Amino acid sequence: MSARPLMFFGTTNLDLCFNVERLPTPGESLMGTLARNPGGKGANQAVAAARLGLRPTFYTRLGDDDAGRLLLQSLRDAGVCADAIEICAGEVSGSALVMVGDDGSNMIVIDPGANLNVTPDMIESAARFIDREAIVVAEMGMPIPALNRLFEMKSDRGFKLIFNPAPVRPGLSAAAWRSVDFVTPNQAEAFELTGVEVEDFESAAGVAAKLLDLGPRAALITLGAQGAYYADATSSFALRAFPVKVVDTTAAGDAFNGAFAASLAQGLPLREAVRKALAVAALCVTRRGAQSAMPTVQAVDEFLK
Ligand code: ATP
Repeated sequence: MSARPLMFFGTTNLDLCFNVERLPTPGESLMGTLARNPGGKGANQAVAAARLGLRPTFYTRLGDDDAGRLLLQSLRDAGVCADAIEICAGEVSGSALVMVGDDGSNMIVIDPGANLNVTPDMIESAARFIDREAIVVAEMGMPIPALNRLFEMKSDRGFKLIFNPAPVRPGLSAAAWRSVDFVTPNQAEAFELTGVEVEDFESAAGVAAKLLDLGPRAALITLGAQGAYYADATSSFALRAFPVKVVDTTAAGDAFNGAFAASLAQGLPLREAVRKALAVAALCVTRRGAQSAMPTVQAVDEFLK
């Protein structure tokens, strides 16, 4: 069976990654080692899906600069269709300062650059790449008016919509929320959206109900090393994370979202799609980096044997 078309909308950044023994405290100087890695939530998610053998289309906005050229090439090399990507003269590509401690914890500061200049009209134009049968994935790094336009197009166009509300910001319209099929926050994002802490699967059930009140058809909350919790109006389930040795948790959520979307596009039943997303995210946290940590389909198959 051929996969449904998959399209990601989101941000792309050049990550300046410092590996440090531990994260610094305010005012402290530490030694570390620097690597320049392609990143950005949307780009990471698209690459996660491409590694699983799909050819997702990605919409993002890059500056016409060295970072933009490097980011575009790395997306193409990963097997992402770049036809919808805009390269913008006079704009600077997004960048991020990432610090990763030896225990896998991280701190991130982002300069969004060209990512911030996406307008509703640009989204309208990029929507020509969305097939009716498509699964569309969007994260919250793009400007909110652009997201509102994308989500509000859903009723006419009929695609399936996965919304990763990261980083959480206000302003998404009620109509936009109602067009979401799956909202996929992590624990912190679920708290920001509902005001209730997600500590375990039991509290996740209450928070998922509150998320559904916002309008989406289903909520899928990731709980780091605990796993993930799914709920819609009539059913719910929790799946435990795969136990692994954590090296770097950067982009674990992106791995999960990219793999969940890819698995649905490949026709996996819901529970299987969540299980595969947990496996891909588990493998991701065993490696350093963001896109470089996304596992191949062979590695995932081997892991799940
Ligand atoms: P990040 O911000 O680091 O990209 P996140 O906070 O968005 O990640 P999490 O909920 O921390 O997302 O993790 C997403 C998924 O990654 C989890 O549901 C789980 O499948 C996997 N994961 C994260 N941490 C671990 C871990 N320590 N062991 C196994 N799997 C993990």
